[in-house]
Amino acid sequence: MRINRIGGAVAAFAVAALALTGCNSGTPGATDDSTGDAAEETTSGTPWTVAEDVTIEGSPTFDAISDRGSVVVGVKEDQPGLGFLDPATGERTGFDVDVARWIAASLGYDEDDIEFQPIASANREQALVNGDIDYYVGTYSITDKRKEQIAFAGPYFITGQGLLVAADNEDITGIDALTADHVVCSATGSTSVQRIKDETPAQTKEYDTYSTCVEDLKNNQVDAVTTDEAILIGYAAQDPENLKVVGEPFSEERYGVGIAKGDTALQEYINTMFTDGGEVWEAIFSKNLGASGVSADQPEVDAAE
Ligand code: GLU
Repeated sequence: MRINRIGGAVAAFAVAALALTGCNSGTPGATDDSTGDAAEETTSGTPWTVAEDVTIEGSPTFDAISDRGSVVVGVKEDQPGLGFLDPATGERTGFDVDVARWIAASLGYDEDDIEFQPIASANREQALVNGDIDYYVGTYSITDKRKEQIAFAGPYFITGQGLLVAADNEDITGIDALTADHVVCSATGSTSVQRIKDETPAQTKEYDTYSTCVEDLKNNQVDAVTTDEAILIGYAAQDPENLKVVGEPFSEERYGVGIAKGDTALQEYINTMFTDGGEVWEAIFSKNLGASGVSADQPEVDAAE
């Protein structure tokens, strides 16, 4: 699945060029009215359109959204390229944020009707169980353990766990180089921190967010930061003088949209949106991650999730 970083970047640029000319796709799942979508897209500048007259039979989440008249989405906001809030401009960007917007649009809600809530890795299941959010889009790996409490639509993206180290570090070349002398930082409640504990002798340090780990790395407080490569590449790209991603990915992280357990109707609706919306997916990917070198393949959704 993974592609070589340099080759991948070239391939991704090619995809970007294609996607920019071919991002004209109606929003799947709308019950009707896709006439005039192309014009709407040009005006709004988004590759998706806001659906009209949506109904989803038997979805408690959709009922709650309809009663409220807005969508509450859980996201990350410190992960450049994926889920990022620019503190200066207040603008939210990233592949996950755009997936969240695309879902909202397919439910009939535009940007003004979305409330984004930052939720850390450790708190995602509880937020969904409590009904604090309607759905969660933020580097959220589908796991059996999480599925005991919640459900996932997707997968919509696949990446793998990696390591971020100081640019001048020559000692940590990959997971196999980690020893009991190394301190590796990651987020509480993530698959990433668990894997380091399970599979390496390294010491771990945990925070709520990966950006705090990156600060520690820059201040020589830890030897490495670990999480999904797609996330780490975003941090390295912001500071290539001081940071680099090393080694081969050592897991498969299949990103899903977290939803309430039992809301099969919503799950199917979002899965159909992903299945039918390949061109939208590519446009979102190219815009946010096209130059990063991560895999540019949209995975097939798995109805069994
Ligand atoms: N994808 C991994 C997970 O869901 C790591 C990234 C994150 O914490 O969001 O645990």
